[in-house]
Amino acid sequence: MSFSSVVLSGPLARRASRSVKIAHGQREVIVGGNSPIVVQSMTNTDTADVFATAIQIKELARAGSELVRITVNNAESAAAVPFIREQLDRMGIDVPLIGDFHYNGHTLLRDFPDCANSLSKYRINPGNVGQGAKRDTQFAQMIEIACRYEKPVRIGVNWGSLDQALLARVMDENAQRANPWSSQTVMYEALIVSAIENALRAEQLGLAGDKIVLSCKVSGVQDLIAVYRELSRRCDYSLHLGLTEAGMGSKGIVASTAALSVLMQEGIGDTIRISLTPEPGGDRCREVVVAQEILQTMGLRKFTPMVIACPGCGRTTSTVFQELADNIQTYLREQMPVWKEIFPGVENMNVAVMGCIVNGPGESKHANIGISLPGTGESPAAPVFIDGVKAVTLRGERIVEEFKTIVLDYVKSRYGSSSLIERN
Ligand code: SF4
Repeated sequence: MSFSSVVLSGPLARRASRSVKIAHGQREVIVGGNSPIVVQSMTNTDTADVFATAIQIKELARAGSELVRITVNNAESAAAVPFIREQLDRMGIDVPLIGDFHYNGHTLLRDFPDCANSLSKYRINPGNVGQGAKRDTQFAQMIEIACRYEKPVRIGVNWGSLDQALLARVMDENAQRANPWSSQTVMYEALIVSAIENALRAEQLGLAGDKIVLSCKVSGVQDLIAVYRELSRRCDYSLHLGLTEAGMGSKGIVASTAALSVLMQEGIGDTIRISLTPEPGGDRCREVVVAQEILQTMGLRKFTPMVIACPGCGRTTSTVFQELADNIQTYLREQMPVWKEIFPGVENMNVAVMGCIVNGPGESKHANIGISLPGTGESPAAPVFIDGVKAVTLRGERIVEEFKTIVLDYVKSRYGSSSLIERN
């Protein structure tokens, strides 16, 4: 393969996977098949707190989460689920909810039918379903309830809670090999076997293959890539991607991006979640923004107009440039819940905010709208380019406000339909 063909080929075609419909009311989210990769997230409120959980789900959905998972860990949280659903419906939030079950899911789903019915999907961790003979029975109970309510299921394996009996079996099989695998390879194998065997068991129990999503989450980047490459080779179930326990801040973002980007570039993955640990008081919606930005910067989906900003250097004389870039990026993201309804296609827009004349005018001309702020020693003027042509030069204290007005006018004229604009 030549260098140019590598560059020009882009991501590989998505692997053929079964598509899974996850629905609430009229809202249908399709995971897998040829559908775009879906962004999902998870709450960190106490699910028993109906109001706090509904508010956080609303925030996550408004940020762009297309599916939201909530933990259902006790009777109080199971009892709260239908009220959370009702509250969301009253607020006009139709995002499908996924219930996350461990240890007692069979009991909760049985004892709280309104919970079972109001969720749009169940996540079952086969390592946390039960021990010994109870394990098969309790797994079957959950699958039977999923069949009764026609709900899809994610069989979500995690290396932190791997089925120990299955791991022991895989280790025993490995010991019989003439050339035993490394312990790392044995762990990979146990994760993959756990996911696929449980999926096949769910199918034997009556759950259709197009109601099953698989995941095999680990916390190491290279481990995740190796496991999903092999998992995708062995089955055609829809796959949920995520680096578990990715961590805080830039480490979590970089690790998740590194792992998921490699896999998605190879056509692997139908839905993603970025498992960031928020800073104390931090915004839970960050994980949604990061997921969207990974997909958008890879060219796989479009969510929000992109802001192209230079990093700044010794030629930038003040913080005006950083403030403008930050201000515009925040402004564009905040407008999107409304803009995406009334300005179709606005997510394709590029806005350049540049710090000086070196690359400023050039980069600005490539964007839909660009502004080149004055650097050190340059005259205090900021030329604005619209569709590659210099349109106006801004000066003075109100550059930020004036530039935002120019962006809004451009959005209205380029992406708006007059009837919708008048109504809004
Ligand atoms: S555009 Fe100017 S301010 Fe920005 S990084 Fe390049 S030289 Fe520095």
